[in-house]
Amino acid sequence: QKSKKVTLIGLGPMGLAMGNAFLNKGYELTVWNRTLSKADELAAKGAFKASSVTEALETNELVILSLTSYDAMYSILEPAAASLQGKVIVNLSSDTPHKAREAAKWLAGHGAIHITGGVQVPPSGIGSLESFTFYSGPREVFEANKKTLEVLTSTDYRGEEPGLAALYYQLQMDIFWTSMVSYFHAIAVAKKNGITAEEFLSTASGITAALPQFIQFYTPRIDADEHPGDVDKLSMGVASVEHVFHTTEEAGVDASLPAAVLELFKRGMQEGYHNNSFTSIIKVLEKQET
Ligand code: NDP
Repeated sequence: QKSKKVTLIGLGPMGLAMGNAFLNKGYELTVWNRTLSKADELAAKGAFKASSVTEALETNELVILSLTSYDAMYSILEPAAASLQGKVIVNLSSDTPHKAREAAKWLAGHGAIHITGGVQVPPSGIGSLESFTFYSGPREVFEANKKTLEVLTSTDYRGEEPGLAALYYQLQMDIFWTSMVSYFHAIAVAKKNGITAEEFLSTASGITAALPQFIQFYTPRIDADEHPGDVDKLSMGVASVEHVFHTTEEAGVDASLPAAVLELFKRGMQEGYHNNSFTSIIKVLEKQET
């Protein structure tokens, strides 16, 4: 394990929580932020407030970024690129896998190593090993800095390819956003029927808690690209989603969400999957070229 020294650039709510976690663990912390006054709270607790990005980079080999996006990284690091040589940049800003791959190349061009991170928790979860962060990038470099990164959260290393951490992060956000909106949709229908969120809670929790069983059951079939209609048929799915659609309309609620699902299912029917499982929708989705 290397010395307990780290530079942190980006002091939004997330960066501030990270800074506090490092100070609590006795790290020699160097900080920099575009709006420098945001560093005052950490400086008062013993952090070194660098007066420039160059100084922040030159103080430590390990540099953690917590910024809105990768574009913010370029605006900060480009003017100080001469100081990137030999640095390990752990980028905990959320963005796309492509942006992460491009950043890894750009940093390599300046003699630095990029470790991609995707933080899974809000600032309140920082400093707890129950929280975790996806990482990807050179394994040896990740391992050498793992202890320091574990000050923030547990680590879930996904592999060498720089885009992987960002990809896993976005894949789980894909499920999070669409699932939560489906919950909001059901709530809107429930409310129009005089049912409160509280009254709906156990039913909503029940169906979401059942989803892992479905996912586990279908996983080997999906990997084998087998979509038999032995337990469910897409034609049955269409009838069921139509009922959801009509229940929504009867309630006077915007039906664009079940309409989108219905549209996908019907496309699956047109493509000849009516006697297959609704997992054949994956094939319908894969065909879409935009
Ligand atoms: P923000 O996403 O708002 O990040 C703010 C930081 O980015 C500030 O330090 C800000 O500087 C800096 N910044 C933004 N644009 C620029 C720019 N063009 N040039 C220089 N600096 C810039 O807040 P968070 O701290 O909440 O999030 C940080 C990262 O963590 C994000 O990528 C976010 O997606 C991710 N994350 C956040 C979670 C959360 O719950 N907050 C949860 C999981 C991940 P300044 O202070 O000068 O504006």
